[in-house]
Amino acid sequence: MAETGVYRTRFAPSPTGPLHLGHAFSALTGFDRAQACGGEFLLRIEDIDTARSRPEWETQIETDLTWLGLAWPRPALRQSLRRQLYAAVLAKLSGMGLTYPCRCRRGDIRAALSAPQTSTPVAGPDGLVYPGTCRGRSLAETGPEDAIRLDMRRALDRLGALPGFRETGPAHAGDHALDASTLVESVGDVILARRDIGTSYHVAVVVDDAHQGITEVVRGNDLFEATQIHVLLQALLGFPIPRYHHHRLILDENGKRLAKRDAARAVAAYRADGATPADIRTLVGL
Ligand code: GLU
Repeated sequence: MAETGVYRTRFAPSPTGPLHLGHAFSALTGFDRAQACGGEFLLRIEDIDTARSRPEWETQIETDLTWLGLAWPRPALRQSLRRQLYAAVLAKLSGMGLTYPCRCRRGDIRAALSAPQTSTPVAGPDGLVYPGTCRGRSLAETGPEDAIRLDMRRALDRLGALPGFRETGPAHAGDHALDASTLVESVGDVILARRDIGTSYHVAVVVDDAHQGITEVVRGNDLFEATQIHVLLQALLGFPIPRYHHHRLILDENGKRLAKRDAARAVAAYRADGATPADIRTLVGL
């Protein structure tokens, strides 16, 4: 487990909408944790999904974070400029024999999973666990419309002893070991490169957390299940495994997680209504 002298965390928004109270809570939590121990807080713009990301949201995010009193080294790292690095890591995993091309669309996956002889579909961190239809296809057959998946069983065989990670967030505090049967049955062959963007959140986040020397990843509990994918990739790639701190989510009055479309909960909307940064801290329970 990575332990270095300097605490370093990051806030990693996707610029696909305004910063809302949930983001504010996440950024403030990371910033406060860094401040408390004289560590560093970084901003990373996760804009690999170019169809959904907008420069104006990026500007708005930086404006809102600055207004909240947060500071970080500039310029922030932008994932859209780092595609070659993600491609190199994908090539490395492929070179290890751990990937295969997949041409299944969502409908194909649903159809395969509803076939009479298959067991009940399981929902994993990325949606329905892939039934393995394309597993065994060779990379030489990769078509322009194919995604690239991780062969989970092979990845586990390759590692032998499985790594673990330390969690400091309240809901899951403690040491967690990866579990092979959970990874096979409840996570499965996750996508490492989407057909449209040539990479994936999982690859980009792991590459960048290593590159930025992140010692503790602070993010919402909704990503706790995805952490086992990240730790697995870190171990396969020989990257340090940071600590993780998953925090509670800010919910709306119906108990649902805030979404980008909840414009009323945008930090900018509260500011326009005269709220102060201290009011935002109070609103999110800090
Ligand atoms: N970009 C992700 C999001 O906005 C966060 C990723 C992370 O913190 O690992 O949900």
